[in-house]
Amino acid sequence: MNKRLHVHLYPEHCARTLDLVELSAYVAEVIPCIETEVRGDLGTSYLSALTESARKAALGKLAEAFAKAKVRNPTQHDDEFGPLWGEIDYESRRLADSNSKAFGVLYDGFKMAYILRDLIPREERNLAHLHIVFTNQLFGTWEEGDRRYHARASFYSFPTLLSTSGIVEAPAKPREYYFLKQQYTALGMQDAMVVELERRFRGRFIDYDDERLTEVMKGYVMQAIAYHFWGDPFCEDENCRLYNAHWQEEVIQSQLESPYEFCPYHRRKLAELTEEASDEG
Ligand SMILES: [Zn+2]
Repeated sequence: MNKRLHVHLYPEHCARTLDLVELSAYVAEVIPCIETEVRGDLGTSYLSALTESARKAALGKLAEAFAKAKVRNPTQHDDEFGPLWGEIDYESRRLADSNSKAFGVLYDGFKMAYILRDLIPREERNLAHLHIVFTNQLFGTWEEGDRRYHARASFYSFPTLLSTSGIVEAPAKPREYYFLKQQYTALGMQDAMVVELERRFRGRFIDYDDERLTEVMKGYVMQAIAYHFWGDPFCEDENCRLYNAHWQEEVIQSQLESPYEFCPYHRRKLAELTEEASDEG
C-alpha cells in the first residue's frame, strides 16, 4: 500500500475548542511520512466551485439527501420515507451556512458518508487520500444485536466522520449521572438538577465546547489512520488512543489520563509505517 498518504481535515466551525492545525501537526509528528492538510468546509468548497444555477440545483439535491439520511425512528432500520418540505428546507438552510448547528437530529452514518463522498474531488477518491470530516451533526449506526440505532462519535469510512456532538452524546456517562437526572426530573427539580449534575460530574465526561476536545480528537484521528492502514481502527488496550471507548470514563482514560499514547504493539506498528516509507525513498 502507498504509505505516502495525504490526510485532509475538514472543519466544524461551531466547535470553539477544536483546533485542526494542532491535530494536523500531531499526525505529522506521530507519522512523519504522512502529509496533512487542513481544508475549508467540504460542502462550501464543493458548492462554491459550481456556477450559480448548478449550485442552486446541487444545494437542493444535497438538502433532500440529508433530509432522507435522517433517522426518524431509532428502532427502524433503513426507513424509506419521503422527507417533508420543512425537513428539506431545514437542511438547505443548514448547508448554506457553515456556522450552523444541527440540533436534535440523528442521521444514518452510512448515508451521511455516502453523501459527503460525492463532494470530494474525484481525483482524491482513492486510497492515497484519507478525508476526515468533522461535523456537529449527530449520527448513528444500526446495531443488529439490539435492533436499534446507536449514536456514534466516529464513523470510519470514506470519508471518516467525527462528530463533536457524538463525542458528548455517544459514549455513556457514569451510571449515577442518569440515575440522578431521572430522580430530579421525576421531582420536577430541573434547576437544582443542572447545578447538582455540574457539581458532581464536572470533568467526568466530555461536554460541548470542552477544552479537552482537541486532545481527545487526536485519538479519533489516529483511529481513522489505523483503519486506513490496517483495516481495524481499534485496540483492546484501554490505555491506547485506539481504544474503542463506550463510556465517557474510557474516553478520558484512553485519551487524557493514560500513562502512554499507544500500546507497545501499536507503537511498533506506527514506527514501521515510517520505516517502510523511508525505505521506499
Ligand atoms: Zn494499541
